[in-house]
Amino acid sequence: GIRIEDLHLSFGETKVLEGIDMVIEPGEFFAFLGPSGSGKSTLLRAIAGFGPTPRGRILIGDRDIAALPPWKRNVGMVFQSYALWPHMSVRRNVAFGLEERRMPAREIGPRVEQALETVGLLHLADRMPAQLSGGQQQRVALARTIAIEPQVLLLDEPLSNLDAALRVQMRRELLALQRKLGLTTIFVTHDQEEANTTSDRMAVLDRGVIQQIGTPQQLYDHPENAFVAGFLGTAN
Ligand code: ATP
Ligand code: MG
Repeated sequence: GIRIEDLHLSFGETKVLEGIDMVIEPGEFFAFLGPSGSGKSTLLRAIAGFGPTPRGRILIGDRDIAALPPWKRNVGMVFQSYALWPHMSVRRNVAFGLEERRMPAREIGPRVEQALETVGLLHLADRMPAQLSGGQQQRVALARTIAIEPQVLLLDEPLSNLDAALRVQMRRELLALQRKLGLTTIFVTHDQEEANTTSDRMAVLDRGVIQQIGTPQQLYDHPENAFVAGFLGTAN
């Protein structure tokens, strides 16, 4: 699991996260919802170690990772734009993060094949990204992240580039994979239905403050304030 305590982050004068406190249980699938600009990506990036160092604590077990470089955090992130390297094969794309972490070469090959097998893409290992569909590229991005065997998986709108039908299929696959690996997962989405159907619990963020945390049912049935009620009632 992961525990976040009193996390604050500003870009210059602009306060973007204003005291985030939350605990995500081991193996939990946790969704983040909130309006554009509310700080969702900033929060995930802070957990992953990208961007300015926040104030506060980010604990995995009893280790505070808030000031560690990204590759020492045991956190894997899939970005909204998959950001695959266009000049590298699927296999090389997945291997790259392991090479960066200085994993011995003889361990990298099997680890890459295992990750590609997990997402059902081993047969396309030698293709280039441009030769893949959107859904397949999304799976490569996922394979690249699970290959590092993260303790926490961060997903920033990973399905938003896909068409509606594929998005529903990938959502199911993602959830099945998350359950199988027992991965503690934080999932940012604009899609309420996606959050409702996947998450164990969810949080609604507004202007860098968590407005409410609970199961989807709790938030829909008992919104704690007007913002949550309005946001869940009107968006989508
Ligand atoms: P969206 O749903 O549109 O992806 P978000 O909730 O992910 O929105 P963030 O990307 O976290 O929002 O941005 C939160 C705020 O921080 C915004 O006001 C944004 O303009 C600002 N911001 C983000 N990155 C930077 C940066 N590098 N420099 C300055 N301001 C930034
Ligand atoms: Mg964002």
